[in-house]
Amino acid sequence: MTTFDNTLNADGALIVGAGLAGLFTALKLAPRPVTVLSPKPLGTGASSARAQGGVAAAVGKGDSSHAHAVDTEMAGAGIVDHGTAESVTAEAAARIEDSARWGTPFDRDDFGNFALGREAAHSANRIVKVEGDRAGWAIMQALIAEVRRTPSIRVVRRHYRA
Ligand SMILES: Cc1cc2nc3c(=O)[nH]c(=O)nc-3n(C[C@H](O)[C@H](O)[C@H](O)COP(=O)(O)OP(=O)(O)OC[C@H]3O[C@@H](n4cnc5c(N)ncnc54)[C@H](O)[C@@H]3O)c2cc1C
Repeated sequence: MTTFDNTLNADGALIVGAGLAGLFTALKLAPRPVTVLSPKPLGTGASSARAQGGVAAAVGKGDSSHAHAVDTEMAGAGIVDHGTAESVTAEAAARIEDSARWGTPFDRDDFGNFALGREAAHSANRIVKVEGDRAGWAIMQALIAEVRRTPSIRVVRRHYRA
Protein backbone atom coordinates (compact mmCIF):
# COMPACT_ATOMS: atom_id res chain seq x y z
CA MET A 1 0.00 0.00 0.00
CA THR A 2 1.34 3.46 -0.88
CA THR A 3 1.61 5.93 1.98
CA PHE A 4 2.04 9.66 1.73
CA ASP A 5 4.04 11.84 4.09
CA ASN A 6 2.28 15.22 4.34
CA THR A 7 4.71 16.61 6.88
CA LEU A 8 5.78 20.18 6.11
CA ASN A 9 8.95 21.38 7.78
CA ALA A 10 8.61 25.11 8.26
CA ASP A 11 11.27 27.27 9.83
CA GLY A 12 10.05 30.36 11.66
CA ALA A 13 6.55 31.65 11.00
CA LEU A 14 3.99 29.76 8.93
CA ILE A 15 1.54 31.89 6.93
CA VAL A 16 -1.52 30.19 5.48
CA GLY A 17 -2.61 31.89 2.28
CA ALA A 18 -0.78 33.99 -0.27
CA GLY A 19 -3.07 36.92 -0.93
CA LEU A 20 -2.21 40.50 -0.04
CA ALA A 21 -2.41 39.83 3.71
CA GLY A 22 -0.16 36.77 3.55
CA LEU A 23 2.51 38.22 1.26
CA PHE A 24 2.53 41.58 3.06
CA THR A 25 3.02 39.86 6.42
CA ALA A 26 5.82 37.71 5.02
CA LEU A 27 7.63 40.80 3.71
CA LYS A 28 7.16 42.63 7.00
CA LEU A 29 8.66 39.68 8.90
CA ALA A 30 11.78 39.59 6.69
CA PRO A 31 14.58 38.80 7.31
CA ARG A 32 13.06 36.38 9.80
CA PRO A 33 12.36 33.03 8.12
CA VAL A 34 8.80 32.56 6.88
CA THR A 35 7.00 29.80 5.03
CA VAL A 36 3.92 30.84 3.03
CA LEU A 37 1.37 28.23 1.98
CA SER A 38 -0.11 29.02 -1.41
CA PRO A 39 -2.73 26.60 -2.70
CA LYS A 40 -2.38 28.00 -6.21
CA PRO A 41 0.38 29.74 -8.21
CA LEU A 42 1.16 33.13 -6.69
CA GLY A 43 -1.26 35.80 -7.85
CA THR A 44 -4.05 33.36 -8.58
CA GLY A 45 -6.71 31.94 -6.29
CA ALA A 46 -6.72 35.09 -4.16
CA SER A 47 -9.32 37.87 -4.03
CA SER A 48 -6.53 40.43 -3.80
CA ALA A 49 -5.61 40.28 -7.48
CA ARG A 50 -9.25 40.97 -8.40
CA ALA A 51 -9.68 44.16 -6.37
CA GLN A 52 -10.31 47.01 -8.77
CA GLY A 53 -11.53 50.17 -7.12
CA GLY A 54 -8.35 50.95 -5.20
CA VAL A 55 -7.32 51.25 -1.56
CA ALA A 56 -8.60 53.83 0.91
CA ALA A 57 -5.97 55.76 2.87
CA ALA A 58 -5.94 59.31 4.25
CA VAL A 59 -2.94 60.50 2.25
CA GLY A 60 -4.46 63.63 0.71
CA LYS A 61 -3.83 67.20 1.81
CA GLY A 62 -6.14 68.18 4.66
CA ASP A 63 -7.29 64.60 5.24
CA SER A 64 -6.68 62.63 8.43
CA SER A 65 -6.85 59.03 9.57
CA HIS A 66 -9.35 60.10 12.22
CA ALA A 67 -11.69 61.50 9.53
CA HIS A 68 -11.27 58.21 7.65
CA ALA A 69 -12.19 56.29 10.80
CA VAL A 70 -15.27 58.48 11.40
CA ASP A 71 -16.45 57.85 7.81
CA THR A 72 -15.85 54.14 8.28
CA GLU A 73 -17.91 54.02 11.46
CA MET A 74 -20.70 56.06 9.85
CA ALA A 75 -20.83 53.68 6.88
CA GLY A 76 -20.89 50.70 9.23
CA ALA A 77 -24.06 51.97 10.89
CA GLY A 78 -23.27 50.57 14.33
CA ILE A 79 -21.36 47.40 13.54
CA VAL A 80 -17.85 48.89 13.28
CA ASP A 81 -15.57 48.57 16.29
CA HIS A 82 -14.25 52.05 17.10
CA GLY A 83 -10.75 50.97 18.14
CA THR A 84 -10.32 48.79 15.07
CA ALA A 85 -11.45 51.57 12.74
CA GLU A 86 -9.01 54.01 14.35
CA SER A 87 -6.06 51.62 14.30
CA VAL A 88 -6.59 50.35 10.74
CA THR A 89 -7.04 53.82 9.28
CA ALA A 90 -4.02 55.06 11.25
CA GLU A 91 -1.89 52.37 9.60
CA ALA A 92 -3.19 52.88 6.06
CA ALA A 93 -0.89 55.64 4.81
CA ALA A 94 2.28 53.86 5.94
CA ARG A 95 1.15 50.60 4.39
CA ILE A 96 0.49 52.35 1.06
CA GLU A 97 4.03 53.72 1.27
CA ASP A 98 5.29 50.17 1.89
CA SER A 99 3.49 49.00 -1.25
CA ALA A 100 4.91 51.89 -3.25
CA ARG A 101 8.43 51.14 -1.95
CA TRP A 102 8.02 47.53 -3.04
CA GLY A 103 7.19 48.70 -6.54
CA THR A 104 3.45 49.32 -6.87
CA PRO A 105 3.07 51.99 -9.58
CA PHE A 106 0.27 54.00 -7.96
CA ASP A 107 -1.29 56.70 -10.11
CA ARG A 108 0.34 60.09 -9.41
CA ASP A 109 -0.33 63.69 -10.32
CA ASP A 110 2.19 65.99 -12.02
CA PHE A 111 3.81 66.73 -8.65
CA GLY A 112 4.31 63.08 -7.69
CA ASN A 113 1.45 63.04 -5.20
CA PHE A 114 -1.05 60.19 -5.21
CA ALA A 115 -3.88 60.84 -7.70
CA LEU A 116 -6.83 60.20 -5.41
CA GLY A 117 -10.35 59.13 -6.24
CA ARG A 118 -13.43 59.29 -4.07
CA GLU A 119 -15.86 56.49 -3.38
CA ALA A 120 -19.08 56.09 -1.49
CA ALA A 121 -19.12 57.11 2.19
CA HIS A 122 -15.75 58.88 2.04
CA SER A 123 -15.85 62.59 2.86
CA ALA A 124 -12.52 63.18 1.11
CA ASN A 125 -10.62 61.96 -1.91
CA ARG A 126 -8.63 59.06 -0.45
CA ILE A 127 -8.69 56.15 -2.90
CA VAL A 128 -5.25 55.32 -4.29
CA LYS A 129 -5.40 53.58 -7.64
CA VAL A 130 -3.26 51.99 -10.32
CA GLU A 131 -4.09 52.64 -13.96
CA GLY A 132 -7.63 53.42 -12.89
CA ASP A 133 -8.95 50.01 -11.94
CA ARG A 134 -5.93 47.70 -11.75
CA ALA A 135 -4.92 48.28 -8.13
CA GLY A 136 -5.31 44.73 -6.84
CA TRP A 137 -3.51 43.12 -9.75
CA ALA A 138 -0.68 45.68 -9.70
CA ILE A 139 -0.15 45.53 -5.93
CA MET A 140 -0.03 41.74 -6.07
CA GLN A 141 2.47 41.76 -8.95
CA ALA A 142 4.73 44.14 -7.00
CA LEU A 143 4.52 42.08 -3.81
CA ILE A 144 5.10 38.80 -5.65
CA ALA A 145 8.24 40.24 -7.25
CA GLU A 146 9.45 41.48 -3.85
CA VAL A 147 8.71 38.10 -2.25
CA ARG A 148 10.77 36.40 -4.96
CA ARG A 149 13.66 38.77 -4.21
CA THR A 150 13.49 38.03 -0.48
CA PRO A 151 15.57 34.99 0.49
CA SER A 152 13.98 34.57 3.93
CA ILE A 153 10.57 33.78 2.38
CA ARG A 154 9.81 30.28 1.18
CA VAL A 155 6.59 29.77 -0.77
CA VAL A 156 5.17 26.25 -0.73
CA ARG A 157 2.60 25.64 -3.43
CA ARG A 158 -0.35 23.26 -3.55
CA HIS A 159 -0.77 23.18 0.22
CA TYR A 160 -4.15 23.76 1.85
CA ARG A 161 -4.97 24.02 5.49
CA ALA A 162 -7.75 21.44 5.88
C1 LIG B 1 -14.01 41.36 -7.31
C2 LIG B 1 -13.45 42.00 -6.06
C3 LIG B 1 -13.19 43.36 -6.04
C4 LIG B 1 -12.67 43.96 -4.89
N1 LIG B 1 -12.38 45.30 -4.91
C5 LIG B 1 -11.79 45.89 -3.84
C6 LIG B 1 -11.38 47.25 -3.88
O1 LIG B 1 -11.53 47.93 -4.88
N2 LIG B 1 -10.77 47.77 -2.78
C7 LIG B 1 -10.56 47.04 -1.66
O2 LIG B 1 -9.99 47.57 -0.67
N3 LIG B 1 -10.95 45.75 -1.58
C8 LIG B 1 -11.54 45.16 -2.64
N4 LIG B 1 -11.91 43.85 -2.60
C9 LIG B 1 -11.66 43.12 -1.35
C10 LIG B 1 -10.19 42.72 -1.26
O3 LIG B 1 -9.78 42.14 -2.48
C11 LIG B 1 -9.99 41.77 -0.10
O4 LIG B 1 -10.46 42.33 1.10
C12 LIG B 1 -8.51 41.43 0.08
O5 LIG B 1 -7.91 41.10 -1.15
C13 LIG B 1 -8.36 40.28 1.06
O6 LIG B 1 -6.99 39.92 1.08
P1 LIG B 1 -6.57 38.59 1.79
O7 LIG B 1 -5.09 38.42 1.60
O8 LIG B 1 -7.12 38.56 3.18
O9 LIG B 1 -7.39 37.44 1.00
P2 LIG B 1 -7.10 36.79 -0.43
O10 LIG B 1 -6.41 37.72 -1.36
O11 LIG B 1 -8.38 36.16 -0.89
O12 LIG B 1 -6.06 35.64 -0.08
C14 LIG B 1 -6.44 34.49 0.65
C15 LIG B 1 -5.37 33.43 0.41
O13 LIG B 1 -5.65 32.30 1.26
C16 LIG B 1 -5.64 31.12 0.46
N5 LIG B 1 -6.50 30.15 1.12
C17 LIG B 1 -7.84 30.19 1.28
N6 LIG B 1 -8.25 29.09 1.94
C18 LIG B 1 -7.13 28.36 2.23
C19 LIG B 1 -6.90 27.11 2.91
N7 LIG B 1 -7.89 26.38 3.43
N8 LIG B 1 -5.60 26.68 3.03
C20 LIG B 1 -4.57 27.42 2.51
N9 LIG B 1 -4.75 28.60 1.86
C21 LIG B 1 -6.01 29.05 1.72
C22 LIG B 1 -6.12 31.59 -0.91
O14 LIG B 1 -5.78 30.66 -1.93
C23 LIG B 1 -5.35 32.90 -1.03
O15 LIG B 1 -4.00 32.67 -1.41
C24 LIG B 1 -12.43 43.19 -3.73
C25 LIG B 1 -12.70 41.82 -3.75
C26 LIG B 1 -13.19 41.23 -4.90
C27 LIG B 1 -13.44 39.73 -4.90
